[in-house]
Amino acid sequence: KDYTSDQEVRWCPGCGDYVILATVRGFLAELGLKRENLMFVSGIGCSSRFPYYLEAYGIHSIHGRAPAIATGLAVTRPDLSVWVVTGDGDALSIGGNHLIHALRRNVNMTILLFNNRIYGLTKGQYSPTSEPGKITKSTPMGSIDHPFNTLSVALGAEATFAGRALDSDRAGLTEVLRAAAEHRGTSFVEILQDCPIFNDGSFDALRRENAESHLIRLRHGEPIRFGADGEFAVVRDGFGLKTVRADTVADSEIVVHDAYTDHPEYAYALSRLSDQDLTRVPIGIFRSVSRPTYDDGVRAQLDAAADNHPVKENSLQQLLTGRETWTVG
Ligand code: SF4
Repeated sequence: KDYTSDQEVRWCPGCGDYVILATVRGFLAELGLKRENLMFVSGIGCSSRFPYYLEAYGIHSIHGRAPAIATGLAVTRPDLSVWVVTGDGDALSIGGNHLIHALRRNVNMTILLFNNRIYGLTKGQYSPTSEPGKITKSTPMGSIDHPFNTLSVALGAEATFAGRALDSDRAGLTEVLRAAAEHRGTSFVEILQDCPIFNDGSFDALRRENAESHLIRLRHGEPIRFGADGEFAVVRDGFGLKTVRADTVADSEIVVHDAYTDHPEYAYALSRLSDQDLTRVPIGIFRSVSRPTYDDGVRAQLDAAADNHPVKENSLQQLLTGRETWTVG
């Protein structure tokens, strides 16, 4: 099935959103879902035009509130595959509160956060992920804000699934999307995305010839080595992790990636390896663990309440979804 819609795509030429859209369109066919069971909810920003360009259902909603709307959908329509598309400004500034509570509740949805480290739609102001000292229209003397480490925020908010991918890495992004879609609960995926108009080359360090010395590719069950010839490695460092030259440590000291460990501090330590200069950037699946989901819990409570109600013809859930008529008497 081709999920291409008939809408004209209105992003700037060269925008990283194009390759993400192409990858998502290609990947959706794998899910084998009918378009009426696929729902994309977005907020406000360049990335939030995403739902127009997919032949599926979608809501271009309000700034920062996509996770709240998606939560309502996930609770009342368990038959839907619910996706949120958001950006660094939408999700981490005005929408920061909604994002962290969706994550801690573990609502069944997949959140794709396009991080271009700038406000693109409003023409180039610094965002919560812009690097310190960044000169923009709203920071003419350089940003004095300390930026968010996006994966650290998600993991600190108890994300049960957290991953990162690069817009131009179609294979890597597809792999993370596949795992995110299979996960029950909130899947959080940060996609590093180029904005050639207002933040050109922001992620060039991860695309150049020596990108492999910057990208730490996480593969479950494998020792974490990186660099063109695996010349660097990740080892323990007190409570955290650090990178070293692999030939300076024994093989047994190299950390073996475990995306399924119940200990959240491990994935958090991985997230702290990222730095603003992009000298080290882990990508792949940081964490994937099970926890009861919010929407399952709500439905269970509604069903229990309906069972205790004197009129048992319909469940409260059916009342909420409007699929059947509630009869009192
Ligand atoms: Fe893409 Fe930047 Fe243009 Fe927005 S402003 S569409 S992020 S290139």
